[in-house]
Amino acid sequence: MGSLLSGLGELGLKGLEGVDLYDDAKETKKEEVKEAPAPEAAFDERECLFGKSHTCPVCYKEFKALTARQSKIRPAGMDRDLRPRFKNFDPMKYDVILCPNCGYAALGRFFHTITPPQAKLVKEGISRNFHAIPDKEYFTYDEAFLRYQLALGNAVVKKGKAGEKAYLCLKMAWLLRGKREAIEAGKDEVDPDKMEETISDLIQDETELLTNALDGFLNARQNESFPICGMDESTLDYIIAVTAMKLEKYDLVNQMLNVLLVRSRLTPMMKDYCVDMKEELRKIRKEQEG
Ligand SMILES: [Zn+2]
Repeated sequence: MGSLLSGLGELGLKGLEGVDLYDDAKETKKEEVKEAPAPEAAFDERECLFGKSHTCPVCYKEFKALTARQSKIRPAGMDRDLRPRFKNFDPMKYDVILCPNCGYAALGRFFHTITPPQAKLVKEGISRNFHAIPDKEYFTYDEAFLRYQLALGNAVVKKGKAGEKAYLCLKMAWLLRGKREAIEAGKDEVDPDKMEETISDLIQDETELLTNALDGFLNARQNESFPICGMDESTLDYIIAVTAMKLEKYDLVNQMLNVLLVRSRLTPMMKDYCVDMKEELRKIRKEQEG
């Protein structure tokens, strides 16, 4: 994607497109947003959503945000890195709350906890230039992703903690994985000639987001107190181990597994995966030596 935040330009926030997540803002670069075709909804996603009322803690205006109805959510298992999977539709598309008046956006978990100095930073860094996004009846993956990018832009501008930014990157990676699975299952339409390229781009972008998530989580683990984004130490260390495995950072995997396997607070599923990873790591090391 060139930059994690490319695409915010169309919201009037071109200045945020090239920003470094964990450093001070630096010079920005232009990047055109890639428009993927809107998917044909296999069933009516609009029936699974409602407009939830919020009062914006930055501009104090009231607005309604599309929210997934709990009663319509159908869990369908979990990936190794704890990404929840769903039948019918992906409620994760609706986890970012965006104030359409001022452009303040954050995951629901963080939306109402902004401090007054942070609200001031958002007004200066986001609201001043923000162009509203048209209302939608439901979100495509691309429309949801743009909202996550805006939440990440807000987290940078308000000088949010590394843990919050890392968690957003992780969820953005999950969102792209959801889009890829929808395309592969024929639920999300894509030009057949561009199928291979689209899938390859999605995998590459997911890897970039996971790399950023890992950096931020390692930073948060050193500098923030638990729970971090609702995760206890074991859960965070587990996600670090699985993500490091995916990114082939084997020394880090080994280090985390040594810590995790002596802890008792892991769920049975997490413990099983840790044992599996230990075995995978042993095979990889053996191949490397051979
Ligand atoms: Zn607002």
